[in-house]
Amino acid sequence: MTPLFPAVREAAPHTALRFGERALTYAELAGAAAPLADRIRTAGRVAVWATPTLETAVGVVAALLAGVPAVPVNPRTGGRELAHIVADSAPAAVLAAPDAELPAELAALPRTDVTGTPPATGTGATGPVELPPEPDGEATALIIYTSGTTGPPKGVVLPRRALAHTLDGLADTWRWTERDVLVHALPLFHVHGLVLGVLGPLRRGGAVHHLGRFGTEAVAAELAGDGTMFFGVPTMYHRLAEAVGDDPALAAALSGARLLVSGSAALPLSDHQRLTDATGQRIVERYGMTETLMNTSVRVDGDSPTGSVGVPMPGVELRLVDESGADTVPADGESVGEIQVRGANLFTEYLNRPDATREAFADGGWFRTGDMATRDAHGAVRIVGRKATDLIKSGGYKIGAGEIENVLLEHPQVAEVAVTGEPDPDLGERVVAWVVPADTGSPPEPEALADHVAAQLAPHKRPRTVRFRDELPRNDMGKVLKRALRA
Ligand code: ATP
Ligand code: MG
Repeated sequence: MTPLFPAVREAAPHTALRFGERALTYAELAGAAAPLADRIRTAGRVAVWATPTLETAVGVVAALLAGVPAVPVNPRTGGRELAHIVADSAPAAVLAAPDAELPAELAALPRTDVTGTPPATGTGATGPVELPPEPDGEATALIIYTSGTTGPPKGVVLPRRALAHTLDGLADTWRWTERDVLVHALPLFHVHGLVLGVLGPLRRGGAVHHLGRFGTEAVAAELAGDGTMFFGVPTMYHRLAEAVGDDPALAAALSGARLLVSGSAALPLSDHQRLTDATGQRIVERYGMTETLMNTSVRVDGDSPTGSVGVPMPGVELRLVDESGADTVPADGESVGEIQVRGANLFTEYLNRPDATREAFADGGWFRTGDMATRDAHGAVRIVGRKATDLIKSGGYKIGAGEIENVLLEHPQVAEVAVTGEPDPDLGERVVAWVVPADTGSPPEPEALADHVAAQLAPHKRPRTVRFRDELPRNDMGKVLKRALRA
């Protein structure tokens, strides 16, 4: 395979990574990663303690250069889940910053410190470095655990070929070049933050500035500086939308950005609208999964409607199938089917789960995403929700939770909402809305919310039950854990 990171191999003299005050050029990154790659070369697999730091980025790059599969570990996982990930992935060593305190499960493994500094610092010119030969495209690059939104996380085995395919497709879709500087505040143990956010800029030969943690002021400052793009999850855009009205500097910084991208979960229309009103920017939505990397995106040169996740990525085949598995769902923007995808973006397998891997594919190598969507005549995909949790079968209708959530969020007394289905003797299932009121002192009348939905959508979509909560259970990516709500 051609090099995954040409600028690292060329030891280019310009900035690759910046985390807070610390930065590395491509030459320095090659210098820091090469000895590490050499040390872990014979390991079967390594875990990376994935704090949002320069060390994590250097550790992952070293593993990729060495051709050793890297397993990024969420530093906030603990207990049974961490024990499962360690036992399941069986790493030979753990890469971590020297000052990182590791939990017992990982402390028991041989440890390789990642210092994040090249042997010779200061000059920026470390000279040519010896790097191992480029591994084959089918070799495993990363094993990333899914977000665990619908069940326990599964280890997804990702080959180098899938990374290259998705990142090059994004370069085309977003006109992403080496001149782009990404403003980054996501965690580094999922596809969004690690593959798109760190490996994406490195593949292009551009730069990434990681903020350590998300804050609207820090995002504004970076975008007003040399940052050109920002990638965020919907909870971040919600906070930007809340802040932008009273913060002219933030509005100006967002207006001036070349590209603002949202993904990992559905971006509520109300937040999107507020941001567009304040900044003139259209937020670019893209849809992906750990197993498939990116499936669709709004193209910067396209005209996908707001609320859609755009069109299939270059080289990705996408179809919608009905309950019998037939590929006959019309592209009319209304009819709903399950998304299935095929292409070089796909994972190899679920680690140690041949049963789950087999079940995940339909005949012909189509991967069943479990996501339900419509598609219009121009190929633009609109996600309705997940088959398992977001499709409510009520009174003979199939109702998508996302549509109701979007309408409820327009209600001034609603701050956050999640819609689920619950068994109902008459209807089969009934629509239930879990609402965080805008003002906890005066929650909205359930009847008023039901009427609002009936008026905006249809009477059969109105919530029959409304439950008020102070907050919704969410994971690290801000995704609502509907299984936790139900429990
Ligand atoms: P698990 O598979 O463990 O239940 P998960 O599916 O949330 O967790 P990920 O692979 O991180 O784990 O997330 C992929 C899912 O995220 C997709 O299947 C889809 O449901 C959702 N998703 C991603 N991007 C978008 C988007 N732009 N709009 C709506 N949903 C999205
Ligand atoms: Mg999933």
